[in-house]
Amino acid sequence: MISPRNMLLATLLAMPVTSYAADIQSTLDHAADAVESDVIRWRRDFHQHPELGNREHRTAGIVANHLKSLGIEVTTGIAHTGVVGILKGAKPGPVVALRADMDALPVKEMTGLPFASTAVAEYGGKQVPVMHACGHDAHTAMLMGAASVLAAQRSELSGTVMFIFQPAEESPPPGEEGGAELMLEQGLFDTVKPDAVFGLHVGAGTSGTVTYRSGPAHAASDTFHITLKGRQSHGSMPWFGVDPVTLSGQVVLGLQTIASRRVNLMESPAVISVGTIRGGVRHNIIPSEVTLEGTIRSFYDHQRAAIHADVKQVVEHHAEAVGATADIDIQKGYPALINDRALIARMLPTIKQVVGETGANEGPMVFGSDDFSYFANETPGLFLWLGTTPPGEDPMKSEHNHSPYFDIDEPALSNGVKLLSHLAFVFLAERN
Ligand SMILES: [Zn+2]
Ligand SMILES: [Zn+2]
Repeated sequence: MISPRNMLLATLLAMPVTSYAADIQSTLDHAADAVESDVIRWRRDFHQHPELGNREHRTAGIVANHLKSLGIEVTTGIAHTGVVGILKGAKPGPVVALRADMDALPVKEMTGLPFASTAVAEYGGKQVPVMHACGHDAHTAMLMGAASVLAAQRSELSGTVMFIFQPAEESPPPGEEGGAELMLEQGLFDTVKPDAVFGLHVGAGTSGTVTYRSGPAHAASDTFHITLKGRQSHGSMPWFGVDPVTLSGQVVLGLQTIASRRVNLMESPAVISVGTIRGGVRHNIIPSEVTLEGTIRSFYDHQRAAIHADVKQVVEHHAEAVGATADIDIQKGYPALINDRALIARMLPTIKQVVGETGANEGPMVFGSDDFSYFANETPGLFLWLGTTPPGEDPMKSEHNHSPYFDIDEPALSNGVKLLSHLAFVFLAERN
């Protein structure tokens, strides 16, 4: 039996679009409103059943079934668990990609929500609790909603929409490959190359509003591992050894002078943080080695290369100054995410049509990274932040992404579905 709600939904989804202007706006908006309860239901289901990177089997299965039910051409198993849908419009035109990430984090959920996660999974050889603490449950649900909206407008679509449901954005488990980089390596854009790619991330911000950043938006994230090698000695007679512990203190301070004294802060900020220092086994033994690990965040390639060289120079010379040696290994992580300035300028009116003139604001650069950057390095990209702080809470003081208390204001998801749908439709319709 068809319920009145489903009849309404079917009617709204089937309404043809004749032009972008008023008709399409309201048609897409009504269709997004009609799937809102589905999107919330999907989000809660994913939230209750989170899966770590490269393990998103259940999530990917639900996504693939949904896309197939809409008549979208589906490929599964890309970069382990990735799902890609191709929706061909009735009219010729360019290709636009919409991306959502599907993975959760090894975090123990403390929200107390009725659909809170109690999931555990193996990670790095240990059993860990798992939680959608970054909101990727919402991203997946919103993109499924946008697929419903856009599939119903197939006859009016001028071109192709590629739906990318990506695994392992939070980086794959240790020793594995994954994420956006692996999807591209496996040929994601080889046969169908998008002319633009759009993505959303939920987080701190007034519920339903959009923050965008033209140009560099998210930082490149690199990791360093340093081993300082001295000579072991008795703690009471340090002159018989070479002390890597005091050296490690000098190295930490020396590294701080790179960001504060050598990076051109007029051009762009950068961050270097030491996260671990390990050395020694006993209070009265000066160890032979101390290791340090940390992260480097930067926004421009030339700045990134200069910082890497500076880290090597600072560490090696501090070590040399005390008669020690140093091994330095810098692993490149995600590249900086650069939003295409022309694409933002072109799409900003569409964004403002969805969230209102005051609902879209340019924000600062963010030192967190997102591997959407790999897609945006292949084709013009636009990554937006969707505010999901519940009303009445201060976005700056609310629980941020990766917190065990992280939660989102679900009514904001409707704007996310609208944004994805409008951006894809308008990009295709306004081809030149
Ligand atoms: Zn995250
Ligand atoms: Zn995230």
